Amino acid sequence: MSMVGRDPVEMEKDIKSRYVLTSKDYEDGLRQGKLLGLKCKDCGAVTCPPMIVCQRCGSINLEPTELSGKGELMTYTVIKIPPEGYEAPYIVCLAKTDEGPWIVGRLDYDAQKMSEEMLGKNVKIKGIFPYSDKYSGGEHVCPMFEIS
Ligand SMILES: [Zn+2]
Repeated sequence: MSMVGRDPVEMEKDIKSRYVLTSKDYEDGLRQGKLLGLKCKDCGAVTCPPMIVCQRCGSINLEPTELSGKGELMTYTVIKIPPEGYEAPYIVCLAKTDEGPWIVGRLDYDAQKMSEEMLGKNVKIKGIFPYSDKYSGGEHVCPMFEIS
């Protein structure tokens, strides 16, 4: 359908109706111990954190879903020189969830003991890491993982 001539108010409503799960919903879910994402009604893929389209097929036909919070450690980095307001060392990790999406979080582990052997280890979300700094625009949370 052509966008030309559509009522701007209707267009805005249409766009807002596509945000079935916002970043705020995602963070509120984490605060309640839930990892929320979107399941595609067309291809079945899970998108997490939430985005406006399915990360596999681009569909907007999405519904909220809860992920297990379990996954595999794909990569990590140990931050030794922290940005203002953070205490080093700490570990930022990228985990591939059992449902597919890769998500960023913190890893609760001894930073001194991190090595290549950690890659592929099973991880699960144990809680949240709250942060609020001058770069982030308010209070946010990200998942805190632990080796499971
Ligand atoms: Zn899809």
